Order: sequence, then structure tokens, then C-alpha cells
Amino acid sequence: MDTTNPIYKRIILKLSGEALGGPAGMGIDPEEAEKIARKIKQIHDLGVQTAVVIGGGNLWRGAAGAARGMDEPTSHHIGMIGTVMNGLALQDALERAGVVTRVQTAVQMNAVAEPYIRLRAIRHLEKGRVVIITGGLGTPYFTTDTAAALRASEIKADIVIKATKVNGVYTADPKKDPTAQRYDKLTYQQVLKDKLQVMDMTAFTLCEENQMPILVLDFWNDDDLLRAVQGESGVGTLIS
Ligand code: UDP
Repeated sequence: MDTTNPIYKRIILKLSGEALGGPAGMGIDPEEAEKIARKIKQIHDLGVQTAVVIGGGNLWRGAAGAARGMDEPTSHHIGMIGTVMNGLALQDALERAGVVTRVQTAVQMNAVAEPYIRLRAIRHLEKGRVVIITGGLGTPYFTTDTAAALRASEIKADIVIKATKVNGVYTADPKKDPTAQRYDKLTYQQVLKDKLQVMDMTAFTLCEENQMPILVLDFWNDDDLLRAVQGESGVGTLIS
């Protein structure tokens, strides 16, 4: 195992479900899962203890079902179960890449995953296993960003790395405004004052209250994740 200077000992990597999706970000594409696994393996090989919180937006979003007349908590339950499906797909890809993993879920599903147990998750990380945290918080109306924020504090992670398709936080939406500028660093207060989009408010507030740094980066750009954990500046936007 290479141990070249990771600056983080333990991270939460928040991956949205879309990362696993095919061209339209929907469904589960095993080839995308393999690409994700390769990137996670790179930082795992550096010795970074990695827990992945996986979303479910590629399969289902609770609010979308509710908007179409479904009972909202039921719709959120479907969303949470979707995150377990994604977690299993990611587990499969990581294990095929030679990374030992455990899937934990906040929604009990004993035949396919362990229950989320904080100390057990920490123990897996200490033993060099990647822990895939699914089921969000196990409670409707929340998001997996909020699960990432909360679990990060629980397992004493150094940082939440939010994997996106954009290389950080901008003054405006860079797709709509060509003059938009990327921030290298932000404080929690600046994000709130300027209403910058980082995470949903519940997730963001949890990070702020617990002084949990957030790094927003482009997961798909070259080795950005690897460079970030090696402390290279200018990768993504750090909020602290
Ligand atoms: N969800 C939930 N409680 C949680 C986490 C997730 O009810 O603690 C549901 C919610 O309906 C959400 C869906 O699961 O829309 C998928 O999660 P999320 O939207 O966070 O996925 P992502 O956007 O990261 O793919």
C-alpha cells in the first residue's frame, strides 16, 4: 500500500446517485460503478480511511413521488431503499477492483447489508475496509447529504468530500453565467450570506455546527479526488 502523504486520515465521500446512472443519470450502469470504484481505490491505496455515503436520485426521489400524489413518507422510503441498491452496485464494483468493503444501511435489510452501527463502521475503517453507508438516515424527509454531514461527525471524519460534476462553488451558475468565478475557499458564513448552493440547509447547518469542513470537487475531472486528499491546493472549493 502506498502511503504518500494523504492530508486526511478519514473522510466521508458523498456521491449522488446520479454518479452511478447511465447517460441520463438514471438507473445503475455497472461501467460507471467501475469508474467510481477506480477513483475510490486510488485514495484507499494511499491509506485514506474512506466511508462513502451514497444517494439515490438516479432511481427515485421522495419529493418527486409526492408531487405526483404519492403519500410522501412512503415515497421517501422508496428513495432510501434505492440508496441501498446503489450501495450494493458500488460494493460489487469495489470488490471486483480488489477493495474490501462493507455496506451498512440505516434501513434494516439483514440479508443484504449490515445495520449502520457507528463503532462497527469505525472498526471497519480502521481495518482498511471501505464502508458504504446507505439508507440515508433511515428517516423520511431527509437527504443523503444530511446523512453525510451527520455520519461524518459521528465517525469523526476529517472532512466531507462532496463529489459533483462541477469543480467547486461558483459566484453564480457557471453553465448560465460565463462570468461566474470559482471560489478556492469559503467560510460557512459566506455561504449562508451569499446563499451559495453547497448542500441542502439541514446538511450544511450540521456541518457548520460541528465545524466539519466540506470540500466540493469535480469527481470526474482527472485525479482531482486523489490530488485533493494529497493536499493539492486549487482543487475544488473548501468550506471551513
Ligand atoms: N431519503 C430519505 N431520508 C434520508 C435520505 C434519503 O427519505 O435520510 C430519500 C429521499 O426521498 C431522497 C432519496 O432518498 O429523495 C434519495 O436520496 P438523495 O436525494 O439524497 O440522493 P442524491 O441526490 O444524493 O442522489
